[in-house]
Amino acid sequence: MHVRSSSYTTGGEYLTPVRIHADRPQSALEIEWGDGHLTRYDFVTLRWLCPCAFCRGEAGMPGWLDSKPTLTEAQTQLTDLALVGQYAVQPTWADGHHTGYYTFQRLREECPCPEDTARRGDAPHLTHRLG
Ligand SMILES: [Zn+2]
Ligand SMILES: [Zn+2]
Repeated sequence: MHVRSSSYTTGGEYLTPVRIHADRPQSALEIEWGDGHLTRYDFVTLRWLCPCAFCRGEAGMPGWLDSKPTLTEAQTQLTDLALVGQYAVQPTWADGHHTGYYTFQRLREECPCPEDTARRGDAPHLTHRLG
């Protein structure tokens, strides 16, 4: 058997953004998915989700965000958003932080809309960690 890059193995429409829009006046990131679902993160929530080693820690060490810092305005202001291949976006924040790759899968799984929050049965950004 060989592995094909089918819509099944890639997650298909469910994980394929058809539109990504960083709305700076509204301080929100909107992602519209191939299956029609709309995910909307305010920048503060998005910043708290930063999956990089500095924010999340590594090798069992807690990261910066685990110390529950008070985020400054610059730390929650998005200045740029780059696509990483076909699988992630990389925001740049006004404080210069830019090491977090937010995979589409994670952005979809952490979707803060009421249905998805209810489906997960937990607070969207406090209990999940990568790794
Ligand atoms: Zn980070
Ligand atoms: Zn949702």
